[in-house]
Amino acid sequence: MTQTFASPGRYIQGYRELEKIARHVGWFGNSYLVVTSRGRKDSLEKTINASFEGTGKTLDYTIFDGEVTKPGINRILDTMKGKAYEGIIGVGGGKVLDTAKAVAYYSKLPVCLVPTIASNDAPTSSLAVIYREGGAFDDVIFFNRSPDVVLLDTWIIAQAPSRLLVAGMGDALATYFEAKTCVDAYRDNFLGTAEGGMSGGSSGSKATITSMAIAELCYTVLLENGLQAKLACDKKIVTKAFNSVVEANSLMSGIGFESNGVATAHAVYCGFSELRGKKHMYHGEYVAYGTIVMLILEGKPKDLIDTVIRFCISVGLPITFEDMGLKDITDAEVDVIVKTAADPGQTSNVEPFAVTFDEMKASLLLADELGRMYKRKGSLTGT
Ligand SMILES: [Zn+2]
Repeated sequence: MTQTFASPGRYIQGYRELEKIARHVGWFGNSYLVVTSRGRKDSLEKTINASFEGTGKTLDYTIFDGEVTKPGINRILDTMKGKAYEGIIGVGGGKVLDTAKAVAYYSKLPVCLVPTIASNDAPTSSLAVIYREGGAFDDVIFFNRSPDVVLLDTWIIAQAPSRLLVAGMGDALATYFEAKTCVDAYRDNFLGTAEGGMSGGSSGSKATITSMAIAELCYTVLLENGLQAKLACDKKIVTKAFNSVVEANSLMSGIGFESNGVATAHAVYCGFSELRGKKHMYHGEYVAYGTIVMLILEGKPKDLIDTVIRFCISVGLPITFEDMGLKDITDAEVDVIVKTAADPGQTSNVEPFAVTFDEMKASLLLADELGRMYKRKGSLTGT
């Protein structure tokens, strides 16, 4: 059995840490390309430039707004021709960071990622999700190394809407349960398929005890600190609990999903993604609901389901169709979600039993039923 563990080369998290970026990436070399969005360039360029002042190192900026696509990545690579960049810095949300990762990979340069939100667990991972122009899914690229430096400035993350931090908690909420399902069934994690892409097939690589322990810690940190972190973010301030949740959303969940694997919660997210015109929630919000669906599907104890639902309520993660803007969801729309979520090619296929359409549908509907019961102040545990 092959076991593989991945993590970023350095993970750095601190209050106004972006002001020190030059010292964290100084070893890359003397010339850097910064990949960022228009908005982030406007708000953060001064801070980044000030950090490099007096170092003799040079920075160029390239603006990236829109979908992560192969042509978009190639456009940036083309602009780099004839330039002797020695490092890439990506600053922004998930799409900017995935683009920066891909640019660094194809140009064989070290990369520093600076997530400006903590809404999902992608930044620490060594993969990027690629779309076609127009937004349809294209492929997942697996890189043969993890980001060299991931730098989180907690002050910047606290300035973003708290809903994004809460969405990140939703993504992180699934991590432990999905990891446990994969690990218990000896399923493959996401490592070992470098350069193969999704079509490269099974990685053959299994989790480590270390990655499983990190996934479990991710869950306990969320339960302990989630509500306080959300309240801090509402006020745009940084506390220890906020720091802990940023670390859980980014580092623990990132290692937790990549080095262990994902399961039904993410398959349910993919199902909701099929409701094109009606998809207006963040990835992590669907994943949170998918976590409840997964626990029901797996027949988990009522106390556990109770804890997860209460956590979701406490931070404002969706627990009903209505919470996801789907109050009037039709049976046909439910079937669209279920068809994808239960598809044998989906990540629900790691469950240790055959996931049928009917069982997935039952779990999806019961999650909503339970959610509505909790909203009426009912509970599974009677307290
Ligand atoms: Zn996710």
